[in-house]
Amino acid sequence: MLKIKNINAYYGKVHALKNVSLHLNRGEIVTLIGANGAGKTTLLNTLSAMIPTASGEIMLEGKNIAGLAADRVVSLGLSQVPEGRQVFNPLTVEENLELGAYLRYRMGGQRQEISEDLERMFQMFPRLKERRRQAAGTLSGGEQQMLAIGRALMARPKLLLLDEPSMGLAPLVVQDIFKVIRMLREEEGTSILLVEQNARAALKVADRGYVLETGKVILEGKATELLENKDVQRAYLGRD
Ligand code: ATP
Repeated sequence: MLKIKNINAYYGKVHALKNVSLHLNRGEIVTLIGANGAGKTTLLNTLSAMIPTASGEIMLEGKNIAGLAADRVVSLGLSQVPEGRQVFNPLTVEENLELGAYLRYRMGGQRQEISEDLERMFQMFPRLKERRRQAAGTLSGGEQQMLAIGRALMARPKLLLLDEPSMGLAPLVVQDIFKVIRMLREEEGTSILLVEQNARAALKVADRGYVLETGKVILEGKATELLENKDVQRAYLGRD
């Protein structure tokens, strides 16, 4: 599904990604683990073309998407839920979801199909249905995160990038978010690349993981192996 080969990215002189290679098979949940500043968000942002890739290949279903414009990347099946949610506050829940399908409308997508997807989002996230006419800015943090995920799903992605979905949320809400992540894979078959500060929870939901340190992949493996790895435990998992 996704194969990244030796990508590099810079912020001015800062070399933020150094020859990063990784892959994600169809239907997998893969998590990126690393300390603050390791380059996790940068990696997601290069995939979604929010920042340029200086060199290397990003193959999405066999097509190199490095260097393509962001809207093109979305239409090829990759959607990102950015860090900090970033819903459109003054717009209603329903309008936010519809915006997620904007490129489908623009490309002449079937309105019927899009409105069916909207109803599907409301089934998946009943709290959003109750609040469909409410301004997004008035939702709770957890509801906003669900909305941000729903909006990304409205583009019908094959691959979903989730950047810190549990950030700043209360523990019970965090559990809900992880339930949604499981459900997306199990019921929708969505492939997911997940960045999380909460490395333990991320590894519990993921199939495989990569550990990033100062812009490099220093370790990769099955999630169960990484959970057992003493170095990973010491550096990223803290106490239970
Ligand atoms: P966090 O969990 O704190 O978000 P991260 O692993 O996602 O960390 P990145 O945000 O990708 O890390 O940052 C990687 C490196 O790039 C860091 O050294 C950071 O200071 C630097 N960096 C990130 N964004 C910019 C920017 N806009 N301009 C300059 N340097 C940046």
